[in-house]
Amino acid sequence: MSARILVVDDVPANLKLLEARLRAEYFEVACVNNGPEAIEICARGQADIILLDVMMPGMDGFEVCRRLKADPRTAYIPVVMVTALDQPADRVAGLEAGADDFLTKPVNDIALFTRVRSLVRLKMLTDELAMRVASTDMGVDPLGRDVPTGENGRILLVDDRPSSVNRITTTLAAHHKVSVEANPQEALFLAADRDFDLAIVSLELEAYDGLRLCSQLRSLDRTRMLPILAMVSPDDNTKLLRGLDIGVNDYLMRPLDKNELLARVKTQVRRKRFSDRLRDTVQLTLEMAMTDGLTGLHNRRYLERHLTSLVDQSLTSGKPLSVLILDIDHFKSVNDTHGHDAGDDVLRAFTDRIRRSVRGIDLACRLGGEEFVVVMPDTDESRAMEVGERLREAVAAEAFTVADGAALWVTASIGVATLSFSSDTPQSMLKRADVALYRAKNEGRNRVAAAAA
Ligand SMILES: [Mg+2]
Repeated sequence: MSARILVVDDVPANLKLLEARLRAEYFEVACVNNGPEAIEICARGQADIILLDVMMPGMDGFEVCRRLKADPRTAYIPVVMVTALDQPADRVAGLEAGADDFLTKPVNDIALFTRVRSLVRLKMLTDELAMRVASTDMGVDPLGRDVPTGENGRILLVDDRPSSVNRITTTLAAHHKVSVEANPQEALFLAADRDFDLAIVSLELEAYDGLRLCSQLRSLDRTRMLPILAMVSPDDNTKLLRGLDIGVNDYLMRPLDKNELLARVKTQVRRKRFSDRLRDTVQLTLEMAMTDGLTGLHNRRYLERHLTSLVDQSLTSGKPLSVLILDIDHFKSVNDTHGHDAGDDVLRAFTDRIRRSVRGIDLACRLGGEEFVVVMPDTDESRAMEVGERLREAVAAEAFTVADGAALWVTASIGVATLSFSSDTPQSMLKRADVALYRAKNEGRNRVAAAAA
């Protein structure tokens, strides 16, 4: 993985210096000396991270950052503002423009590589999630219409100094909900139990090692994705580097600057919500890809994937496996006479009757249209015929009430096939059930037919 770093600075010597140091660590580096060109390169998708100088003639770094963050194509490229050490206000302005981090000139090597690596990881993760969403092609907008905000965060503060706790909670109170815990072990339980957007951890606790808590937060499944903002004193570089190594996302130097605290918390909360959103979307997309939207049953794609493994299991265990294919009789006339909404009502109610008649281990799917499949592990042909008969009765015994109030009498035809250990593939078993279904139709419908072996 070689990340592409874009360095933007109007002073050629600064460009050369950063370029050489990054190349020495095997990053790919591109350099430009002005904002518009940088925006151009980012819009073409050619940068994974931007190191952005603040003071440039023409368009300054803040404006470049604002524009990148306002464009959906570039909003999620991490931006590191490179600011002068004697301009602390620049850090806050940069973070407020949407920057993800900042470095102060002269840039310290260890800080440079630590921050760049951590942001590269974030960018790669983001890209992968977005790509997975796009590749499923379900028409889901991976980022949603609204970009998540960094307000109203649920924050866990782990600090044992009353004055510091007081200062932080007072500063954050108007924007976030803060829970305070002085004991890291209690904090760990709390973090695993509740949904926080950010943990702020003091690395200078009296009786405990704050780094140990950071490490534990990173290793627990429930808290692995929780951003950590560490607080350190300026003379404790070793502890800070250990923290960044462990996976601390960002840090604040004491004494805390109120605006910096607010801005950094906001950035982390926004990042957390963004990655939550992507994960939820991927989850939803996966479910949509496997689920029939109308009935909530599994779909054909899911059936095809799982029938193969059910057949394999059956061949290994020697236990029987049966499939039922169900087709609603004369369904077209329901749609033609009562409209498609009534047709959908019948399909949903039909699904409910299937659900009530099968076991939890049975796999019920809608193949499409008015055709359904139930796969039944550990079920031989005579048992499968009984289930088919029970399903047929469940459909025919009671009228279906549809949206316009009409009561429709509906029947279904059912084909049954049981896996032949000597000759069947998943496809041939389904095919035999399908042939049986058509025999049931031809013999007058509203009946169950078993496949020929
Ligand atoms: Mg400059």
